[in-house]
Amino acid sequence: MIVAASNGFDIADGYNQFSCDDAFLRVFGDLRERYGLASILQGLMARWPSDAARREFLDRLYRYGHRGYASSPVMRALDKLTAGRPRFVVTCNCNGRFERAGFSSEALLETEGSYARLRCSAGCTTETWPAESVGAPDAEGAPCCPRCGALLDVAVGAPHDIQRLEPIRSQAEHLQAFLAAHASTRTVVLELGVGQGNRDIKRPLMAWAERAPQAAYVVVNREEPVLPTLPAGRAAGVRGGGSL
Ligand SMILES: [Zn+2]
Repeated sequence: MIVAASNGFDIADGYNQFSCDDAFLRVFGDLRERYGLASILQGLMARWPSDAARREFLDRLYRYGHRGYASSPVMRALDKLTAGRPRFVVTCNCNGRFERAGFSSEALLETEGSYARLRCSAGCTTETWPAESVGAPDAEGAPCCPRCGALLDVAVGAPHDIQRLEPIRSQAEHLQAFLAAHASTRTVVLELGVGQGNRDIKRPLMAWAERAPQAAYVVVNREEPVLPTLPAGRAAGVRGGGSL
């Protein structure tokens, strides 16, 4: 089973990176007042007035979005549905929650990285480090690259950028190996809350399913489902949202 999950799944899981909702205001309300911050995504993309201000936002995001996460009913239902059989998760969600929920890091591709890992802001290496075990802090307590001493920043970015880094590069290889190993076996792609025009996750998985003779493809989305071209009975779309 291959699970493809994106923002719609995050939202069903209780995490909305686009919204200035109650959870956002509870965690980042003072940053909204100070800087006009309106969403998690904006905070990740923003040019902050200082490294310390960005660091404060990222620390809080890590504690709220990753370390403080406990599996929601939606995540538990997905785990139960897919446990006990070969499974691989592909996601552009960057909060590291699948690993946090117990899914194997060996069967996971985070196409845009994760803020549970840090990378060198000077780009001296393709190595990344778990945010929990960052390198030597500088005088202000910010985590620094163990190799060159530059500040560390979250390992999050566009796929072409982030997939040069480890372990994301290896994750992408693991996915290709999984797809090759299951090209002729009964395999379901379960696509949850992925934009129906998505090119990074959806398009390649639909193309793979069309080539794999025993693959089935299921789309759960609040938008009108776009399905691959497969014989009747091997593709299904469910329109809806909220929970599995
Ligand atoms: Zn470095």
